[in-house]
Parts: sequence; C-alpha cells; structure tokens
Amino acid sequence: MAGLIERYIDRMPEEVTSHIVSIEEGSTPLVPAPALSERVDADVYLKLEGANPTGSFKDRGMTCAVSAAAREGAEAVICASTGNTAASAAAYAARAGMTCAVLVPEGKIAAGKLAQALIYGARVISLNGNFDVALQLVRDLADHHPISLVNSVNDFRLEGQKTSSFEIVDEIGPIDLLTIPVGNAGNITAYWKGFKEYDQAPELNGYQAAGAAPLVEGRRVENPETVASAIRIGNPARWEEAMAAITESRGAVRAVTDDEILDAYRWLPANEGVFCEPASAASVAGLIKNGVSDAARAKAEGGRPKVVCVLTGNGLKDPDTAFDNVGSVIPCEPEMGQLEKAVLGQ
Ligand SMILES: *Cc1c(COP(=O)(O)O)cnc(C)c1O
Repeated sequence: MAGLIERYIDRMPEEVTSHIVSIEEGSTPLVPAPALSERVDADVYLKLEGANPTGSFKDRGMTCAVSAAAREGAEAVICASTGNTAASAAAYAARAGMTCAVLVPEGKIAAGKLAQALIYGARVISLNGNFDVALQLVRDLADHHPISLVNSVNDFRLEGQKTSSFEIVDEIGPIDLLTIPVGNAGNITAYWKGFKEYDQAPELNGYQAAGAAPLVEGRRVENPETVASAIRIGNPARWEEAMAAITESRGAVRAVTDDEILDAYRWLPANEGVFCEPASAASVAGLIKNGVSDAARAKAEGGRPKVVCVLTGNGLKDPDTAFDNVGSVIPCEPEMGQLEKAVLGQ
C-alpha cells in the first residue's frame, strides 16, 4: 500500500508532494471490538494507529513534515517529545538522509520509544525539565538555526494526521462518535479537519489524564503527572483549535484518572486481543466511563451508533508499565508434575 501522501494526494498541500519521504504509513486496521461494543451498547471499532511503521500515529504527520523539510533542502530536523514524536522524527529523518535531534523530558520516556530514537540514529537530549519547557526551547532554537521543527505546531503534521479520518469514513462510512486521547491537542484538531474536508461531523470526545488536564480545567497545569506519559502535557500547543473542534462537533473534553486508564489498558488486551499504550487507553477508559451520548445515539437514527476509539500507540512502546500491571511469570523445572501444576494452576 502506498503511503498516505500518495493515497490522498488531491487533499495534500503542494509543499509535501514534490519530495515525498514515506515509510508507507497509514492504512491502519479499523478493528471491530465486540466485547467493548456490548459494554457500551454501540458498534465500536478500534483504529490501531500502533500499526504505523514506528508504532504510533505520529508517522502520519511526520511523513508530511519531513517531506516539506526535504523540499526546502533541510539537512536537520528537531522536536521536543514525550517519546513517540522522537521515534517517528528519527525514523523519517534517517529515511531522508537528514540528521535529527530530539529533546525529551528526563526520566519520563517509555523504554521502547527511547530505544527507537537511538537506533534510528537521532541525537537524543535529555532535558532537566518537562515537555512544555522542552517545546518552548526547541521553538526558540529553530527560530535561530537552519533546523526544521517537526512538532505538531508544524501545520504539515496536521495535514498528514487528518488522513485517519478519511480512512475511517472510506472504510465504514459516517460515524457518530470518535473518542481520542488529548495531549498537545494536535491530533484531535487534525481529525476534525479531516472530517470537515469529508463533510462529516461526528461528535468528538477528547480524553485527558486527570493529572494533566489543562483543557478540562481551563488553565495550564504547571507539573503534569500521569502514568500515560504520551499525554503528560500541561500547556497544549493546539489549545484553541482543539476546543473549537470539540465545540463545533458538539462534543466534550473530559478527564479520566490513572486508575481508569490502567483498567482499560489491562481490559482491552484481555478482552479484545489489542494491546495499546497507556495514553491510548484513555480513549477507551473515557468511553467506558461516559458511554455514548444521547445526541450521538440520536444521530444513528434508531440504528446502533457507530463509535471509533483511536488507539494512538502500540503497547510494546512501554514494557515497564505493562510489567507493573500484570502478574508474574511462573517458574518451572523440566518435570511433568511441576509443568501440570504450572499449566493447570493447581
Ligand atoms: C502524541 C500522542 C498522543 C497525544 O496526541 P496530541 O496530538 O499531542 O494530542 C496520544 N497518544 C499517543 C500514544 C501519542 O504518542
């Protein structure tokens, strides 16, 4: 399957179409979720963005941001990142023959994401400060050096990310509700852009972690804290646009606690066979907690409402959180009695 710029070339700005840098991102599975559907009495689908080349939706935006940088003749890209943007930028920069520097908050990066950024050859800088501080610093740096900034303040990122909405509608037609985790708020903004370009208006429900919920509280959070490291952001760059998208869609932005996130994080693999990272589980936690609104049900006109939960990143990104939330491995000697005990749990 071609990458998303080629597949949706008529809906792409010309800046990204002349020097395409792609790892055939997008075309991710939209998987029916029977157990979740029964739980919330709706037809629920999971958009598996963890199936992108570096394991998160960030690749959709990165193909566009790096293609635009390539057209400009850029030799280097930079970003601040809670992890997935770093992994993605590093991969696309490698593909384009550019150098890449990433600024990550010290000690707050999931192991898989850090391993990715390093193996793709990025210069990884660990900042003694949080994501919001890191983003401000790279913005200032990019203003003064010939380095292309590929955070979601880069508009080309949204052009790529909007294609997930196209894929959903192309595959299952109009939907009634979309639930999505919200961190820097670029992705919810991009989904809304995509739906509007397709003349669609599903209700958008954005979910933030309770310890990092600036859009819910209506004020910056100085020290955001949550197990969902990908959305540990206290001052979203796309604040106004995200709120406009939520309002226009007659949706809502709400908080879910870390306990609720972790419940969904464990429940989904055990019941649907789908393993996402903690931030992604916020979309499912929110749906379980708040259900499908009467307005979204009304849109379905008597049928079962169609709901999509966006699972933004792959569970393998963050093995430490997985191990913290599961039982232990059972040791066993090569002896049948012991094996029977181990297997049958007696
Ligand atoms: C980046 C990211 C988010 C948040 O997306 P925003 O565009 O920053 O709101 C959510 N989940 C995962 C896994 C991410 O990598």
